[in-house]
Amino acid sequence: MKVPLLDLKCQYQLIKQDILRVTEEIYDSQYFILGPHVEALEQQMARYCHAAHALGVSSGTDALIIALMASGIAAGDRVITTPYTFFATAGSISRVGAHPCFVDIDPATYNISPEGISAAIERMSPSERRRLKAIIPVHLYGQCADMDPILEIARNNHLTVIEDAAQAIGAEYKGRRAGEMGDFGCFSFFPSKNLGAFGDGGMVTTSSKAFHDTLVMLRNHGSHPKYYHSLIGGNFRLDALQAAIVSIKLKYLDQWTKMRQDHAATYRSLFSQCGLEDRLMLPLEKETRHTFNQYVIRVAEKRDELRAFLLKSEIGTEVYYPVPLHLQKCFSFLNYRERDFPEAERAAAQTLALPVFPELTAAQQEYVVDRIKFFYA
Ligand SMILES: *Cc1c(COP(=O)(O)O)cnc(C)c1O
Repeated sequence: MKVPLLDLKCQYQLIKQDILRVTEEIYDSQYFILGPHVEALEQQMARYCHAAHALGVSSGTDALIIALMASGIAAGDRVITTPYTFFATAGSISRVGAHPCFVDIDPATYNISPEGISAAIERMSPSERRRLKAIIPVHLYGQCADMDPILEIARNNHLTVIEDAAQAIGAEYKGRRAGEMGDFGCFSFFPSKNLGAFGDGGMVTTSSKAFHDTLVMLRNHGSHPKYYHSLIGGNFRLDALQAAIVSIKLKYLDQWTKMRQDHAATYRSLFSQCGLEDRLMLPLEKETRHTFNQYVIRVAEKRDELRAFLLKSEIGTEVYYPVPLHLQKCFSFLNYRERDFPEAERAAAQTLALPVFPELTAAQQEYVVDRIKFFYA
């Protein structure tokens, strides 16, 4: 039996007619950049994420960059974030000229540790503390970071909070949605995310009218009115085709999320039936609505051997992420070393993502668990 890590073809069949209709309409209009489809999606996203404003942008990466720019973060500034995330989180910080300050993760959730943030700020020299401007918590795999203490630390230290919610649309923390808690929420419509476009796209949410006004200008070269530039922005625009496609998919998102959550519950019961529940350290849900962009288990020993064995059994898996960011070559100038963030390093060595896409069947899930059971027997 073949079990891919992700299969988007099934989902496409369900929405194909709607998508062909709206894309034809856009082709006929020959109106491709921003416009009514983008505005409609912005309103839908603001409502869905419980945010006052939402702004369509060109990717999740650009969502982070434009949020950093709107926060006034620039050369020499410091931004706290996690080393255990997709590269774009820290890459964006560098792209605006600032430096990432990494803080280790909570091994139970893989998200940044609030205690770690406090300790890192305590350790900073007064001049470094003055340069510290923001925190970017990442809601990894579809589960929110522990936001209450993070927001409190931010308030006490006058820091902007930019939520990297690229993997977490619809995720909740104590009843609040990803993207509604910080100053900004950054979303990605990369095709493999829970709400994916047919190409690149992203969204920034904010509750601040002033920030929203700045974002609107920055998205289009800082232009306002047209051809008058009081800010240096860029081309961060979303196109109509992507917005229209994402709008169609948004209607199904809660249904697809429910299917992912059901798969997670099924994995838990199947793994516990064969006594592997503890050995594999299944995802923990801590006061959150986990949306399972990824279903990630932790394999203390022989992770790579298990992965190779599953590949031979035609089961797709992935390691998110094999090298924590403080050990990436391009960040060597930050002078971090191995063992600086032991939990991130351990997670990089031990985690394995299993298939959890909505259309996964019960038989496929049983096969995945059966093969893992076989590997350990
Ligand atoms: C996917 C992702 C991004 C970047 O989004 P793109 O749309 O691919 O630019 C940023 N952060 C995290 C955590 C992601 O998973």
